[in-house]
Amino acid sequence: MVEKISQLNRRQKEQAKHYLSEAKPQAVVVKYLEDSFEPSCPVCQADRPHRWGHQAGLQRFRCCLCKHTFTAISGTPLTRLRHKEQWLN
Ligand SMILES: [Zn+2]
Repeated sequence: MVEKISQLNRRQKEQAKHYLSEAKPQAVVVKYLEDSFEPSCPVCQADRPHRWGHQAGLQRFRCCLCKHTFTAISGTPLTRLRHKEQWLN
């Protein structure tokens, strides 16, 4: 489960690359990733997290058990890239 959350699967990577190559708005890619995201805590793997506001345009979740907050792309390479504001630009 940690593996599932911490890395995009091959299909997601291909899709992200596809979107990147077409210079889609960031919102489109984020929407895609969120739609395919089944939220569960990357720390304790508890599912059914609460929605917890937004972080940089992403739906943010908060684990009911350990209170860790995360988004659909937490722990993925996209997080690092997005913080540098380099992806999709
Ligand atoms: Zn947790």
